[in-house]
Amino acid sequence: QESSRVTMFDGTGRTKDGQRVQLLANVASPDSVAEAIKAKAEGVGLFRTEFCFLDQEEAPGIEEQVRAYRRVFAAFPGRKVIIRTLDAGADKPLAFVSEVNEVNPALGIRGYRTAWRRPELLDTQLQAIAMAAAAETADVGVMAPMIATVEESIAFAARCFEHGLRSVGVMIETPAAAITAGDILQTVDFASLGTNDLAQYTMAADRLMGELALLNDPWQPAVLRMIREVSRAGIATGKPVGVCGEAAADPLLAAILVGLGVTSLSMSPRALGGVAKLLSSVTAQQCRDAAASVVAASSSSMARAAAVALLAPGQ
Ligand code: PEP
Ligand code: MG
Repeated sequence: QESSRVTMFDGTGRTKDGQRVQLLANVASPDSVAEAIKAKAEGVGLFRTEFCFLDQEEAPGIEEQVRAYRRVFAAFPGRKVIIRTLDAGADKPLAFVSEVNEVNPALGIRGYRTAWRRPELLDTQLQAIAMAAAAETADVGVMAPMIATVEESIAFAARCFEHGLRSVGVMIETPAAAITAGDILQTVDFASLGTNDLAQYTMAADRLMGELALLNDPWQPAVLRMIREVSRAGIATGKPVGVCGEAAADPLLAAILVGLGVTSLSMSPRALGGVAKLLSSVTAQQCRDAAASVVAASSSSMARAAAVALLAPGQ
């Protein structure tokens, strides 16, 4: 009986014909975990650790970090939890990391780049993540934000290894990383597409400016083709590629991402029901066919129209 209009996710993402797609939650701090559990997320695809320490003047110590990370890991026993190292920068400042006088903060010392100046912050964080992971049963992966070169992914993976972390990935959110994803993926275990920043940098359009929303849109052909590049690299290397940007929360676009070969989708918990519902209404082959048409479209509106026509014709 179809009485409820609220779509609930049953905890296992799959297409109509049964192809598995992991549906994960984006989590901002230990306090936001409850929402992810209530929404039956299969795990966490993006734990944004910078949100744990937003109002702090001093860098958090190891013990404090271990406590915060354990709370999230403990909430998902035996499940995947991908924790991202600090993504601070002048546009998303942490008092103990960021320089405030950068002229172009989005293009400045942010994400993994902060480790150039403050390597000890990254090492302390990796040590805390390793300790927290050792104390819990969650299947912990660690990834770095704002990677632009293969040298960076190699250096990051090496440091994770030194701390005993064995599942290492990077975010693909710069065009540079998207274009070289094949090389980058050779150096790590997995990648996660950050479509918010990938759209911003591909379109040269500030993601915080509403006026630029038309450009800053993951349905833009340029962004879709970047994503296709990365998915192809994942297929070619046999490494999992997920999406953790807002694109994953748009049900139609989620199906297109699956059609491109993405293996997991991570989103704000409230989006899980809608994405699961759309995916369960289409086959994997439909997703692949729709993805081919959508990526070939020459505008964002034509891309979206193609997706609607092929995947949700009633809408
Ligand atoms: C992204 O850039 O898409 C992403 C998931 O990271 P954030 O939104 O935290 O920059
Ligand atoms: Mg980002």
